[in-house]
Amino acid sequence: MRKSKFTPGDFRLAVKRASAGRGLFAQERIPKGACIIEYVGRTLTAKEEQNSRSRYLFEVTKKKTIEGWNKKNTARYINHSCRPNCEIEIRKKRVFVMAKRAIKEGEELGYDYGKAYFDSFIKPLGCRCIKCTPKLHAARGKPLKKKSIKKKKRA
Ligand SMILES: [Zn+2]
Repeated sequence: MRKSKFTPGDFRLAVKRASAGRGLFAQERIPKGACIIEYVGRTLTAKEEQNSRSRYLFEVTKKKTIEGWNKKNTARYINHSCRPNCEIEIRKKRVFVMAKRAIKEGEELGYDYGKAYFDSFIKPLGCRCIKCTPKLHAARGKPLKKKSIKKKKRA
């Protein structure tokens, strides 16, 4: 059977500690344009959507919103990034996370959550993505290089 562009590849991914809580990391190289994972969840009724206080709502279309807080939805661990390596594509009312560029093994996945979400949930706390906190990301997982530690000069 021919695979559709929107069949998630069987990439090895792992949930790990990230600079913003937990995050989803590539455990192998992912080529540009590849479908990585589908964002799955229950479709809410209009009323449920209005009353929901979930932060895992995903507006698929004007009329369809899914709630992604469930164990099956590994994609919920993907954090927002202002310099994303992933992007969302909506296909037949389903949500797919695609590789915006080639992703290296060990890289954290991120996509742009959009301005509305960013302004209400991320901005107030301060964005911790790789673009906004490069030092935090550089320090994570890597031993500090000795030369980066400044030595005090004796007078
Ligand atoms: Zn950011």
